[in-house]
Amino acid sequence: MNPTFLRSRRQTKLTEAAAAIRAATRIVLACHLRPDADALGSLLGLGAGLRRLGKAVTLVSPDGVPEMYRFLPGWEQIVPGAVGDWELGIGLDADGSDRLGSAESLILAQPRVINLDHHTGPDPYGDIQVVDSSIAATGELVYLLLQELEIAPDAEIAACLMAAVLTDTGCFRFSNTTAETFRIAAALREAGATPGAVYDAVYGRRSFGATLLLGRLLTQVSRTEDGRVVWSWVGRADFEACGATGEATEGFVDQLRIVEGAEVAVFFREATHGDVRVSLRSRGRVNVAQVAAEFGGGGHVPAAGCTVEEALPSAMNRVIDAVRRALPDAAALAQP
Ligand code: 5GP
Ligand code: MN
Repeated sequence: MNPTFLRSRRQTKLTEAAAAIRAATRIVLACHLRPDADALGSLLGLGAGLRRLGKAVTLVSPDGVPEMYRFLPGWEQIVPGAVGDWELGIGLDADGSDRLGSAESLILAQPRVINLDHHTGPDPYGDIQVVDSSIAATGELVYLLLQELEIAPDAEIAACLMAAVLTDTGCFRFSNTTAETFRIAAALREAGATPGAVYDAVYGRRSFGATLLLGRLLTQVSRTEDGRVVWSWVGRADFEACGATGEATEGFVDQLRIVEGAEVAVFFREATHGDVRVSLRSRGRVNVAQVAAEFGGGGHVPAAGCTVEEALPSAMNRVIDAVRRALPDAAALAQP
């Protein structure tokens, strides 16, 4: 779709969302399962903005706040679930209401529902859908919505939204980084946020256990004959031997993506209950969101994920097969 049309549609939706917010006094916000910095930063940044407007807000993250994101100002206010009555529900960074996990019914039960998101998913929900997959981070949409509400970000809001934008753009490296991203980041910097502080907190340190686990990831790496698909895995036994938790694998897939010749990188992690979490990254020619969708997941063209409820070896086989099929000339290669 043409960018001017997308921008004007987004503006219409932002105006509708702002009107719904002005009309409500009690608002509940929720982000997606296994939250990242975009989910939590958007939740906290919008929550702080709405409080400045005098709203009573409840902030829900169904999977809580992982240790590594506890540098975000106000994270202690986030609850894993809530009971009460509100006039408006807002879902953040979730493509499909099911991504809200245990908060799905809570958000959908509200008299009005706003969906603020930037994924390509096929299942938008809510009365007002502020969904724009051309935007780099949900945090950018939150910034634009606050502008619409005439709230200039203070230091706290800026820190939260900087975390959202910096991480979802891969530190302003990914192709989703636009001139508008930088304009928003500039405004956040002016309001007091520093990109370095986010980088240090999220990427700039690694526990000893996670370091050992990274060693296992690197020794267990494989690739296709042509080197275009690179993958690796860590199993329960690796976590136990290294004394590491699931959070330790943040950034692991990037260690695979940078292997020379890789067009697609896939990281498999065996979860506590036996199913397998899959992270996919592409250099852009393969739409990994489509591959993830084959397994009930989703994401963006260059970055996606899914959960496969199978033992690790068969999950790996099936996903790598699907990636091979998605390679641009896979169809041509299959010809006799
Ligand atoms: P990650 O690999 O960092 O966990 O996720 C990369 C991207 O894929 C993120 O934008 C995330 O929202 C999306 N994603 C990851 N896992 C899932 C999933 O299970 N379902 C859906 N719909 N999206 C996912
Ligand atoms: Mn996001």
